Amino acid sequence: MRLLLVEDDDHVAAALSAVLARHGFHVTHARSGEEALQALLPDVGAPFGVVLLDLGLPDQDGFEVCGKIRKRTATPVIMVTARSDTRSKIHGLNLGADDYVVKPYDTGELLARIHAVARRTPHTEGAPGQQPEADGPNALLLGPLTIEVPNRRVSVDGAAVPLTRKEFDLLALLAQRPGVVFRREQIISEVWQTSWEGTGRTLEVHIASLRSKLRMPALIETVRGVGYKIVVPA
Ligand code: CA
Repeated sequence: MRLLLVEDDDHVAAALSAVLARHGFHVTHARSGEEALQALLPDVGAPFGVVLLDLGLPDQDGFEVCGKIRKRTATPVIMVTARSDTRSKIHGLNLGADDYVVKPYDTGELLARIHAVARRTPHTEGAPGQQPEADGPNALLLGPLTIEVPNRRVSVDGAAVPLTRKEFDLLALLAQRPGVVFRREQIISEVWQTSWEGTGRTLEVHIASLRSKLRMPALIETVRGVGYKIVVPA
């Protein structure tokens, strides 16, 4: 998988590039927001599977860069920053970042997050030179519910439950981090790959449909004014 590393600190970039290369990533290093945006121009080469974006950049604010990346491409963005406050995090997710890692981070955790965002971004499948990830968790188990991610199969107590494509994407996204609240904007941008406007009640309709099809009404909890989370069944 091609990975764009946006980091102005050469020492950090060199160390991280070495680790990522050992794990099979083809790393392109950008030292500024401008270099990152140049690298993402469509005619520059094969598409990137993921962008690792440091927020403290010399030329532009990292949040601004994230917003510009999102307008240009649907490549997943993981923000990497020392700013650990929740406001920055929510701001980043609202700008279309797919995930957020706070320095200092554990390399294993960072790799897991890279694989997770790449896996749940359908447009990276089948891109030239990319193989579907085969080393992720094959099944998510939540009480009676089993979600087989690679073959997109869902069952409750062993009985298959047919879901639409978007219902599956929505369930798989929420189930990746049980107990974590996903903001509505984030869900819409990841599952529908569109911005918040114009989607109307699409998300509510899909949530209602999942609750009824799975016959697990308490599985997906509404967090009023924010979004949704999966509640692990006892
Ligand atoms: Ca920096």
